[in-house]
Order: sequence, then structure tokens, then C-alpha cells
Amino acid sequence: MNTFQAPKGTYDLLPPDSAVYLAVREAISAPLKNSGYGYIETPGFEDVELFARGVGESTDIVTKEMYTLTTKGGSELALRPEGTASVLRAALEANLHKAGNLPVKLWYSGSYYRYERPQKGRYRHFSQVGAEAIGAEDPALDAELIILADQAYRSLGLRGFRILLNSLGDKECRPVYREALQGFLRDLDLDDETRRRIEINPLRVLDDKRPDVRRQLTDAPKLRDYLCEACRAYHAEVRDLLTAAGVAYEDDERLVRGLDYYTRTTFEFVHDGLGAQSAVGGGGRYDGLSEMIGGPALPSVGWALGVDRTVLALEAEGITLQLPPATSVFAVPLGEEARRLLFGVVTELRRAGVAADFGYGGKGLKGAMKNANRSGARFTIVAGERDLAEGVAQVKDMESGEQKPVPLDALVADLTARLV
Ligand code: AMP
Repeated sequence: MNTFQAPKGTYDLLPPDSAVYLAVREAISAPLKNSGYGYIETPGFEDVELFARGVGESTDIVTKEMYTLTTKGGSELALRPEGTASVLRAALEANLHKAGNLPVKLWYSGSYYRYERPQKGRYRHFSQVGAEAIGAEDPALDAELIILADQAYRSLGLRGFRILLNSLGDKECRPVYREALQGFLRDLDLDDETRRRIEINPLRVLDDKRPDVRRQLTDAPKLRDYLCEACRAYHAEVRDLLTAAGVAYEDDERLVRGLDYYTRTTFEFVHDGLGAQSAVGGGGRYDGLSEMIGGPALPSVGWALGVDRTVLALEAEGITLQLPPATSVFAVPLGEEARRLLFGVVTELRRAGVAADFGYGGKGLKGAMKNANRSGARFTIVAGERDLAEGVAQVKDMESGEQKPVPLDALVADLTARLV
């Protein structure tokens, strides 16, 4: 029979590398937990309409990349391609915004699905940790989120990332710019698909990476010149707050992001060691999204950082996280009586909070010691018939190689004391 393989564009997280992924998720979420963000978990799939309306019918994510399905009951669902629309849907459904405590600050961590052309850093199943601050219009909130992402990356030791910042304007000034841009783009020499894009989402054309298109865009009208006074002042305040916090950023007026719901502040974290898929995270303000999915006006801001690409960024910078070994004590029993006795010791150690593992399967000393070595344990307990007859077990310090007999009834106390 054929064996199975992980589906195209996906990969499995396996030990020991999977520990790095856990550590990255922890590092990204720690600053959020420390800043008033509460944990939220939503389903892996939603009504397909939520994304069509929320993320936008003109985006690649919705038109090309969504995994959609019809249930046996006839519901049209989609595997979530991103987190913001679901989080806002959940917050609205639970009336979190009515509890009188705005902004509602939430963080999440999970799997997302996009039917993309797989390549390094771009997968069909990937992980994000994200944060959303719902229901407040305050430049300090935009700055807070950017500062916390910067703090998260730095806590992992990353230095080779840059923050790109832009403002997309609001419902007053963006339409005026949109029209000016469309006028400019319609006169260019572009293929049919790009021409269609001019009519539905002209800002996305600015994102085109092809050199011949880029060349033609040099003199495109700049959004900066069209921002209304309120948007200009808001953006200036975000920038001042970031500068005051010592967070460096670069203005990038081509940064439009692939989702329709963004207004005003948008930002992206890019890492220069990643090649084509250089965005490790991104986000922005989405003041109109709540209304787009049937809720009240709730100006909000958020980001999502990609766990997979953050791990690739660590590799690109040659950073090895200092992770504590998963096991502190490894017990190697030689013989039936030792097996029963040391299994009891391991259980007791675990109940005392010591990470302990055991040589299963009745291996000989050599094989079991190999497992002990591989476990990374600091101490190994070995006991055979002669040791038991003397009422001791041999405790070996795997760092110094030193070995000494310890009375059986003192084992747990001795090891617990030596491990602190
Ligand atoms: P986006 O919502 O597209 O801005 O995605 C936010 C972050 O999620 C990106 O900066 C990436 O780090 C990550 N990401 C998005 N799509 C993928 C993908 N197909 N594979 C891996 N990571 C992704």
C-alpha cells in the first residue's frame, strides 16, 4: 500500500524543531499578554461571506486563495485565510464592544489556509500570532501594536527586520485619491488583468512587483499628497510616538497591503534575509471593517505575525534560541525489579515538577544510555540488581560525567535539590 504524504504546500512540525515554533509563539504573545490583550480562539472555518465581505471581493485572498466547501447541510464555509475578520465577528457576536470597556484588546494564535503557489516561506497552511484592538481611534493604539511587535522580534534576538509604514487615508480622502490614481493608470500600457484591477482595486496595482510595471508607476500620484488634514495629523502622531519609543521605521508609500479593509495606518515588518517572501508580519487600522460585516462603527487596529517566516528569519540570522532541555532526569532500569522501582521514582519526580523520562522497552544499558543522552537530561539514574541489593541507584551528572550512588529513599529529594 502507498504511504501518505503531507498535502502540497504544507509541512509537519516535528521535534526537536517544533520546540522553536512554540518558543516563537510564546515570544510573540508575551508582550501582548503583558499589555492588556486577552486570548481569543475562533473556529478554523467561517461563513464564506464573512471573508468575501470582510477581506474584500477584489483581493487575491478571496478570489483565488480561499479553501471553500459546502457542508452536507448546504452551508458555504471557508477555511480561514486570515484572523481579523473572524476575531471581529466573534467580538460583535458576543457584544464585547458593548461591555463599556473600549478598546477590546484580543490576541490569538492559530493555523491559516491559503491556496497559494507554494515556495520557501509561502505555504498553504501556516501559523500566525495576531492582535486586534477593537473600538478606539487613538494613534497611541496604532503605536502600541507596532512597538509590541518590535519588542517581540527583538526578544527573539532578531535584528535584520525593518518596519515599513504608510497611511492609506480614510473614507474622506481615499476616494479622491483613488479616482486620481485610476485616471493615471488607465493611460498606461498594462495587461488585461491589471486593467481590470484598476477598476476594482487600483491601489493594489501600486503593489505590482514586475519591473516593466514598476517603471511606469514612477510618476503615479502619491497618496501622501491627497491625505486629508485629520489623516495627516493622525499619521504624524503615530510617527512621533514611534520615534519617542525609539522604534525606527521607514516611510513606504507603496505599502497598500493585500486586504481591502485597511484605512489610515498600515505597516509591514520585512526581513532582508528571506528573499522574495520577505514580509514576516503586517497589519494596520481597519476603521470600516465592522460596518462592512454588519456591525456598528468600530475603529480598530491590529496585526498578524507569521510564525513560519519568523522561524525562517531566525535561521537567516543564524540565531539558535536557548531552549531549556525538555527532560531533566532520565531513568535507566536494568532488570524487572529496577523497572518497577525507577518507574515509581520517575512518577514521583514528575509530581514534584521535575521533567523526567524513562528507558522503556527493556533496552540494555548501552541503548538506554543513548536515549538518555538524546533526551538532553542533566542527570541519569541507573539501577541494576546489585544497586538495589545495596539500597541505592547510581546518579550520573551528564555534564561533568561524575557518578555517585544515592540511597533509593533519598533520590527524589536529592535530584530535586540539585536541579534548582
Ligand atoms: P497577511 O495577512 O497576508 O499580511 O499575512 C500576515 C503574515 O502572515 C505575513 O507577513 C506572513 O508572515 C504570514 N503569511 C501570510 N501568508 C502566508 C503563507 N502563505 N505562508 C506563510 N506565511 C504566510
